[in-house]
Amino acid sequence: MKYLSEYRDPQLAQTLARKIRLTATRRWTLMEVCGGQTHTIVRQGIDELLEGSIEMIHGPGCPVCVTPLEQIDRAVHLAGRPDVIFTSFGDMLRVPGSDCDLQQVRARGGAVKVVYSPLDALTLAERHPDKEVVFFAVGFETTAPANAMAVAEAARRGLRNFSVLVSHVTVPPAMEAILSAADNRVQGFLAAGHVCTIMGWTEYEPIARRYRVPIVVTGFEPLDILEGMLMVVEQLERGEYRVDNQYARAVKRDGNQAAQDTVNKVFELRDRQWRGIGMIPGSGLGIRPEYAAWDAEVKFDLAGIVANEPADCHAGEVLRGQMKPFDCPSFGSRCTPEHPMGAPMVSSEGACAAYYNYGRFRQGSPLANPAMTLPILATT
Ligand code: SF4
Repeated sequence: MKYLSEYRDPQLAQTLARKIRLTATRRWTLMEVCGGQTHTIVRQGIDELLEGSIEMIHGPGCPVCVTPLEQIDRAVHLAGRPDVIFTSFGDMLRVPGSDCDLQQVRARGGAVKVVYSPLDALTLAERHPDKEVVFFAVGFETTAPANAMAVAEAARRGLRNFSVLVSHVTVPPAMEAILSAADNRVQGFLAAGHVCTIMGWTEYEPIARRYRVPIVVTGFEPLDILEGMLMVVEQLERGEYRVDNQYARAVKRDGNQAAQDTVNKVFELRDRQWRGIGMIPGSGLGIRPEYAAWDAEVKFDLAGIVANEPADCHAGEVLRGQMKPFDCPSFGSRCTPEHPMGAPMVSSEGACAAYYNYGRFRQGSPLANPAMTLPILATT
């Protein structure tokens, strides 16, 4: 498969792993921010391959996982209204709210529809002028441009029965929150390539300098990740702290200016609550007052919705890299993908789902389903 198999070559993976082991004079602790990268690392056994040289801890870069419970409860409330068609990407449907999830609302007769783009939701609003169509806009910088475009397009078309429930978060403030915590263990970051495709990496440069932490913009295939790890380790061994770009085939330093302009036209920076982590100042995006007519939180009365976090879910520790999923007492017993207690077990980018699906029920455990795994470990 051209342009894919090249980045999954087991021999090259072994060569890169050997280079990392030879370069590291001590065990370094690195964090991959993105849940997509977490899944590649766990599925391929990259962390186990480098055990002794690198400890990988998993960051808060799963958009479904960090969407606050209050926002899930607001979504559930809106989806239950008879005048609303509630639209969302599919992976939000099974995220537990305080009492139920969107899928259960749909089972009870709520109009909950899965869409593949916010523009699909706009089309629904045009087709159903007698209904209010609400789109659940979650995610990092990657999804913000399309969601901003949907709001701007609704305004341009004068579509007043369309609105967006926004829960956008941004990566750099979360990295700073992790680095400035008293119990921080992160010595180097793999930064998510798709976020940088939009934003570039200039925002990371002051973070690398201030916290003396190397940051390498990295892709999502096994060789991307191994090469990104090698680049971080090389900086750490030389005592250097800057931003490097492993993902040059997709990312430029200044990112995509047109996408940034669209985001800035519709959204502004806000303080934002992260599920399992808490409030991070300036870490979110909200709809500007000029577009308030398309802001579901302004349009509908959502005040008074109070969330009840499950006491036994340790998602916050998992998302901050302080706990591995198999260390959660509920992992694999009371919490499974079929019966999730927290979002990291539901989301396709969640760390708990990655560990469960690839058989990591304890440290050093053999992969439960080797057939699903590319043979990086097998050729060690
Ligand atoms: S295993 Fe389940 S209960 Fe434990 S942290 Fe993950 S999602 Fe929460």
